[in-house]
Amino acid sequence: MKTQSIQVKAGVSFVPQHFSPESSAIVRVLFLCAPETQDGILWITEGWRPARHQRDLHTLGLAFDVRIHNLMGSTQDARVAQARLWVARCRDTHDDPRYQFEIHGATPAQFHIHAEFDQR
Ligand SMILES: [Zn+2]
Repeated sequence: MKTQSIQVKAGVSFVPQHFSPESSAIVRVLFLCAPETQDGILWITEGWRPARHQRDLHTLGLAFDVRIHNLMGSTQDARVAQARLWVARCRDTHDDPRYQFEIHGATPAQFHIHAEFDQR
């Protein structure tokens, strides 16, 4: 179905920088470029977190993770293919290398979109 709302996974937290114009633009473009989903929801699965590495943009309020397991498609490969197209649309829409959209995850079960604003 059409993706028509944004929901936040239980336990996810934010810092004020997550509501800055730059960070808001990350979520806005993810939403506007979102493919159809099984539940109609764009799920934010990570906002703020303690730093896992030097200059972790989640900790700085400049990164979000988004679920891809609710995309349409009966196989993991099909859902990941939808996610790759989604990421490509977001990159094209921003057309600004400071906005980065990637598929992250060590295993297919952990795949998600990581989106960040890196002003470096
Ligand atoms: Zn991330």
